[in-house]
Amino acid sequence: MTYIIDGNELADSIRADLEDSVETLTDEDITPGLATVLMSDDPASETYVSMKQKACEEIGMESFHVEIDPEAPAEELYDTIEDLNEDPEVHGILVQLPVPDHVDEERVLNEIDPMKDVDGFHPENVGRMVTGNARFKPCTPHGVIKMIEDAGVDTEGKDVTVVGRSNIVGKPVANLLMQKTDNGNATVTVCHSRTQNLEEKTKNADIVIAAAGVPEMIDGSMLSEGQTVIDVGTNRVDGELVGDVEFESAKDVVDAISPVPGGVGPMTITMLLYNTVKAAGLQNDVEVEL
Ligand code: NDP
Repeated sequence: MTYIIDGNELADSIRADLEDSVETLTDEDITPGLATVLMSDDPASETYVSMKQKACEEIGMESFHVEIDPEAPAEELYDTIEDLNEDPEVHGILVQLPVPDHVDEERVLNEIDPMKDVDGFHPENVGRMVTGNARFKPCTPHGVIKMIEDAGVDTEGKDVTVVGRSNIVGKPVANLLMQKTDNGNATVTVCHSRTQNLEEKTKNADIVIAAAGVPEMIDGSMLSEGQTVIDVGTNRVDGELVGDVEFESAKDVVDAISPVPGGVGPMTITMLLYNTVKAAGLQNDVEVEL
């Protein structure tokens, strides 16, 4: 029987634990607070932001929201970040990407106080992760690792193929998996659009992580028995969400697989809450169990 890695169920159990950590902080008069900043009128971005706000409130956290007109000067966004950096009630700051073309995305990531960078994209936090001393693990990669753990798979010594090399998914997930830590110690192959013989790389891995953003590009014929497959892809095709893996043919081949929707998506939001609770603890010198 193929094990279907249920992202909603796993997210619920992690959120229940996080609720206890939030209580530890509120007992000290600290309510973990996440500020979301939206400078876009893209409906998908609006939905993501409101899901994040709702998730915060559900576990007793505070959520703050700033909306900036996408036509406004970039300075308005930089100034907003500066204000949020100074606000003691805000422990985590999330600027919903992408930002409009006239805004310098790299500057946005640099402006966020690294202690409040709950996305884990600030160069200081990226550097810490790469050198094996992560402060905030990026949310989607962290969620992926929790899902592999949920499937009962020890990554030590395993061959992992990651399809995709973006800064937000492919590179950090590859990096975390190769670290000399629990849930690491894997041998990682990172594939991208110039990779040759992709099928050979996916077929020969123990774990496949698909994060290319190409609908159903990996089907059962590119996979093997015994594998664990995590599908990060979120693609809208004819109004429906599909992953990068063709679920129906893949699930008959592999040992464990995550579906889309109901896989990585809910885990990404959960790990954002996790990082915000961690940030609130760090900023107030309160030890929280995570
Ligand atoms: P990017 O577009 O930034 O990166 C895609 C990567 O896939 C690139 O490295 C690209 O290669 C590679 N790629 C594209 N086509 C192919 C191909 N045919 N063969 C091999 N590699 C290929 O995407 P993201 O990393 O931001 O996101 C990836 C997917 O994950 C998207 O569907 C996105 O919506 C989803 N996502 C889901 C999240 C969730 O919470 N569920 C969170 C974040 C992302 P190259 O570098 O050469 O261009």
